[in-house]
Amino acid sequence: MSDAVAICERTPTCATTGYQLAAVNLKKSYYKGPLEVPVLKDLSLSVRRGEFLAVVGQSGSGKSTLLHLLGTLDAPDEGQIHFDGRRIDTLPTAERDKLRNKHFGMIFQFYHLLPELSTLENVLAPLMIAHSTLGYLRNRRQHRAVATRLLEMVGLGHRLKHKPRELSGGEMQRAAIARALVAGPELLLADEPTGNLDHGSGQDILKILRTLNRQQNLTIVMVTHDQAIAGQADRIVRLADGRIEETPV
Ligand code: ADP
Ligand code: MG
Repeated sequence: MSDAVAICERTPTCATTGYQLAAVNLKKSYYKGPLEVPVLKDLSLSVRRGEFLAVVGQSGSGKSTLLHLLGTLDAPDEGQIHFDGRRIDTLPTAERDKLRNKHFGMIFQFYHLLPELSTLENVLAPLMIAHSTLGYLRNRRQHRAVATRLLEMVGLGHRLKHKPRELSGGEMQRAAIARALVAGPELLLADEPTGNLDHGSGQDILKILRTLNRQQNLTIVMVTHDQAIAGQADRIVRLADGRIEETPV
């Protein structure tokens, strides 16, 4: 990273200009009783619209913590997060929920599908939550068409009525990707999306993410401890000692 870029990333006005997502001087600690465990110490990171960024780091380095902060699921102790030029880490909870539902998609290592719902219903769930019952029902047919199309895109068109327990790990993650996309997000946050999959299924997931990124200009921030997985992104940064370092690809 050049000095100019490094300085820019640490200055709110500079870091947020021209970037879709910017984290500036983030600090986050957990507390074990009175003992402070610092996880993110002074972390700055800017992501361009349409970029596929991989964040690598050892287990326990704070990757999930970072992703939770970027996704406004948790708030930093210090620092700022900006999305589309707007500061988002200090928004009231309801505003943050709205922003997240509308603009962000998230996928996780363990899929987090609801076991009692079918694959199609799992993909529809965010829309049911985002809309009033009446609003959802009014557009039910259209919502189902969108969800079905997404499931077809990830190769699960023949699994719409299956329950998660009837799917393989790779299929569950593909369903989770369809669910993450159903509300039409601009940013996908992926936490070790291949961490629980065999090599082949992991590659299938990466291929889907790559295609979404290229064809729909979807911005992706993917955290992983796996250098080979990270190597398929446009840019790799490393999270170590609570900070971000650029690494040569
Ligand atoms: P990674 O995803 O890179 O494995 P995490 O962000 O999950 O790392 O965790 C970073 C550090 O913070 C770890 O030492 C972990 O034990 C600690 N940690 C994470 N979440 C909590 C929590 N809710 N309470 C206390 N400590 C936590
Ligand atoms: Mg993690």
